[in-house]
Amino acid sequence: MGFKQFTRKVKCRTPLQFNIGLFFVLYAVIVVGLLWILETMLLPKFYYVFKTRETQRIALSLLEDFKAQDAETFQQTLDYTAVSNQMCISMYDSKNRGMYFRDTMNNNCLIHGYNNQHFLLKFVEALDESPDGSICMTVYDEHIGTQTLVVGYVVGSKEDVGGCLFINTILEPVGATIRIQKTMILMFSAVLLVIGIIIALILSNRLSVPITRITESAKRMAHGDYQTRFEGGSCREVDELARALTYAEHEISKADSMQRDLIANVSHDLRTPLTMLKAYAEMIRDLSGNNPVKREAHLNIIIDETDRLAALVNDILDLSKLENGSQKLEMETVDVSTWLSDIITRYKGVSEQMGYQITFTPDESRTMEFDPAKLERVVCNLINNAINYTGEDKQVFVSQVNTETGVRIEVRDTGDGIEEDKIQRIFDKYYRSENHKREVVGTGLGLSIVKAILRLHNYNFGVHSKLGEGSVFWFEIRNS
Ligand code: ADP
Repeated sequence: MGFKQFTRKVKCRTPLQFNIGLFFVLYAVIVVGLLWILETMLLPKFYYVFKTRETQRIALSLLEDFKAQDAETFQQTLDYTAVSNQMCISMYDSKNRGMYFRDTMNNNCLIHGYNNQHFLLKFVEALDESPDGSICMTVYDEHIGTQTLVVGYVVGSKEDVGGCLFINTILEPVGATIRIQKTMILMFSAVLLVIGIIIALILSNRLSVPITRITESAKRMAHGDYQTRFEGGSCREVDELARALTYAEHEISKADSMQRDLIANVSHDLRTPLTMLKAYAEMIRDLSGNNPVKREAHLNIIIDETDRLAALVNDILDLSKLENGSQKLEMETVDVSTWLSDIITRYKGVSEQMGYQITFTPDESRTMEFDPAKLERVVCNLINNAINYTGEDKQVFVSQVNTETGVRIEVRDTGDGIEEDKIQRIFDKYYRSENHKREVVGTGLGLSIVKAILRLHNYNFGVHSKLGEGSVFWFEIRNS
């Protein structure tokens, strides 16, 4: 399925830039809306509560001052309070005669003056009836066309009325203030919108540009270009995405080249014995059928090649079983020295006939727990390789080294060694160095099987190699 066909199935959504832009515009609209609600609904209520409390506090403080100060000082205090708080303040004696008074509302206040006598009487009446000797009322003032607050207190105590104190003040913020506030909010909203749009543009650019770049790279990778670079940019998540894709690219490219190797190697390894089988079978049919010696030789070659094919197929099957987890470990308690020397004794007969010398250096007897059948496969594969790749002296050394953490087993040969860059790859499936000798029979799966078995046991393993001096393959049976 091509990239386009694949993407066509995905619902076409709006681009990131648009989404972020929309988000910011929405955010600005919500903030502006909240500001308007605050201005038109909450602020007047808040203003009312605040103003009422403040006026009551001032009234109480004046009552205190009245008790404490002489007449002249009190008049000054009252003047100052009235002017600085834009209030009209009146104080009457018990016979409702004016004692102290200060008006800052241009004779429009409701608590004194001939025109407002009826108001004053109403307030005095309310004060008389109030159980705690205080009133707090909102009254519409026709002269100035706005709501005003009237706060009144009995001077002295309820039982011993010495007069009364009234304060009248405008309750709504004056028109000009409101107009200024509204204009400011309007301007602020416009600025907020513009800033929101600018931030949205910058942010969406910072986010979408690297994502678009990564998408382009991913498309190139989908078309088989594994050299394409994934660059992050703006933020950690995008960097992580780029890193994850780079890793995926590396893995896909490895899998791709492994698949190619696999096909090349398997087909090569299958074709060679098959060609030989066919050729020798034809030879027996056409030429050597009646010659028992030649026929015998040709049949032996056919048997050898069949063994080779069987080994390859078996290795492939074993490895896939090990890798897909269908093989379980069958743990046993085993004495490592005895176990190893048994394996090597079995080898010796065959290998010494061919002139190979396998030297085993055991350590003190130590029992460990592992799957002996599987680890035998590991040891045999390593010894097979050592025999195959060792030098002219045909020497192979196997040693057991007891350590604090377990038992380390080493298989050393005296061959050409392995180049640094190839060491990384020899445990890969189907990897066979190009310069291995043809007579070295191998499937390229031996070390992959070693790796799979050791991983299943969770054992450490590795290889040290020096060019011209040979290699040491090792693994460690860990204490359980
Ligand atoms: P095979 O031996 O069947 O080719 P392996 O998986 O056992 O496959 O080994 C992979 C490759 O590792 C070999 O082709 C060889 O190039 C290299 N190798 C393995 N063991 C040795 C060794 N002891 N000395 C040098 N090269 C080795």
